[in-house]
Amino acid sequence: MLGLMQSKQLMISSILTHAAREHGEQEIVSAAVEGGMHRYTYADAEKRTKQLANALKALGVGVGDRVGTLAWNGYRHFELYYAISGIGAVCHTINPRLFPQQVAYIINHAGDKYLFVDLNILPLLEALAPHMPRVEGVVIMTDAAHMPETKLAETHKVICYEDLIGAEPETFDWPVFDENTAAGLCYTSGTTGNPKGVLYSHRSTLLHAYAVQMKDVAPVGAADCVLPVVPMFHVNAWGLPYAVPMAGGKLMMPGFRLDGENLTQMMNDEKVTLSSGVPTIWLGLLQYLRASGKRLETVKSLMIGGAACPLAIIEGFGKEFGVSIIHGWGMTELSPVGTLNAPKPGMEDYSDDDRYRHQLKQGRALFGFEMKVVDEDGNEQPRDGKSFGRLLCRGPWVCSAYYNDTENPDGILDDDGWFDTGDVATIDSQGYMQITDRTKDLIKSGGEWISSIELENIAVGHPGIQEAAVIALPHPKWDERPFVIAVRNEGADVDRDGLLDYYKGKIADWMIPDDVVFVDELPHTATGKLLKTDLRQKFAEHKLPTA
Ligand code: ADP
Repeated sequence: MLGLMQSKQLMISSILTHAAREHGEQEIVSAAVEGGMHRYTYADAEKRTKQLANALKALGVGVGDRVGTLAWNGYRHFELYYAISGIGAVCHTINPRLFPQQVAYIINHAGDKYLFVDLNILPLLEALAPHMPRVEGVVIMTDAAHMPETKLAETHKVICYEDLIGAEPETFDWPVFDENTAAGLCYTSGTTGNPKGVLYSHRSTLLHAYAVQMKDVAPVGAADCVLPVVPMFHVNAWGLPYAVPMAGGKLMMPGFRLDGENLTQMMNDEKVTLSSGVPTIWLGLLQYLRASGKRLETVKSLMIGGAACPLAIIEGFGKEFGVSIIHGWGMTELSPVGTLNAPKPGMEDYSDDDRYRHQLKQGRALFGFEMKVVDEDGNEQPRDGKSFGRLLCRGPWVCSAYYNDTENPDGILDDDGWFDTGDVATIDSQGYMQITDRTKDLIKSGGEWISSIELENIAVGHPGIQEAAVIALPHPKWDERPFVIAVRNEGADVDRDGLLDYYKGKIADWMIPDDVVFVDELPHTATGKLLKTDLRQKFAEHKLPTA
């Protein structure tokens, strides 16, 4: 017997309709690429999004067509999210920090029909012009007054965003179609091999947004102001451009200047309560706050994910600035959030130090998302916080196959529908998952595994160390041994022996790295993660003193 409730397709457009109707006065504030702050409301955003939807149809963009965006976090990008998906096309967010060849690969692999580009990303597209023959036109996200001369006009139709939408009507009836229709496309950073496309649906996007805005997990409500530092081209800014309007919260879109000074000013001026970003961003902010003596006046929590959050960041914000950290974990293939470290009962009695240590864990599964840890033979490991193995997951916002993936035409799941995340983790008796490493970054010494993340976290706890990467180097006796590549804090004089001494008592002696080198800077991927493939190449010939 079927239930007798109404069945309604989950449509992304319904989020904006809801925000405009129920929270119409709520603001979206954007640091505009042209300079200054742009302010408008959800009601205004809906009208302009409808103009854009009309304009896209007039351009000939139809159901299933891919439309690429190369843009920072701002109001026009927000309008594109809703208008493109809203008409049944696919909003393909492209990371402009990737190598130009990768950007060209992604545009061609996706088969983008049109590209929308922010003013200061235009030079990248100009350089790629000969390599994107199938793109029909490029829309520059600005007004007539700021429209630049561009040599792109020699090869492509070039349109000004405000001219494109200006004459269109502010009315548009959002179509309703199958909720499993593709809505968004985002390529993984591809630290190895070519980037792979993850194709989100309306349903997966909505369910993910419901899950991340649940009150107990991440505090997003109508009284909040949320500043997504994480870019809209990095897995949909972790779903916040959907979750925040769903909850009726205010959005502060930070543009492209993401240094500590700018972030502090935007956070204090706009009364931001929650923000989200990768550890390197928060490290920059922490250093700025310390140096300037400024405070974050209204921020309650910072969401951290994308890479392991070191204790030094959790403690720094907690002890010195009264800001709590919500550590989360996810990946492009997961829309992206799988777990968030929300408080558990009894935690109010924890000492500060115990609470900070607990926050090192990546957290519990969101409702709807399942995960398990398995050994090399696929046997599920006990949830004891110690047994580690490959982390598998499944759920309605987990990818089942990559877009046009000729290598895996049958998808990427095992027979029971589990997706292998490529991460190694433990899960404790209360369900808190902790990432030990990526499978390929673990160090195997004398048959035992050593976590590079744990060694990196300890190194950055040293007051003289700003950032550290740990990789495996070959060793004649132990197979592999850990090797630290570190960046000193300005003015710090910590040396090799000083850093190695610092490990003593914090981990078993045999896990202490064999050597350290100091460098001025570490290489990062376009999404701010340590680029260990580069380091492995660079230090391939480095001989450990113990070898
Ligand atoms: P890529 O796979 O190209 O690095 P993603 O942004 O999808 O791009 O990265 C997902 C990976 O990032 C995860 O599989 C995991 O290894 C790592 N990651 C994400 N969040 C965390 C976290 N909180 N702690 C440790 N690692 C994390």
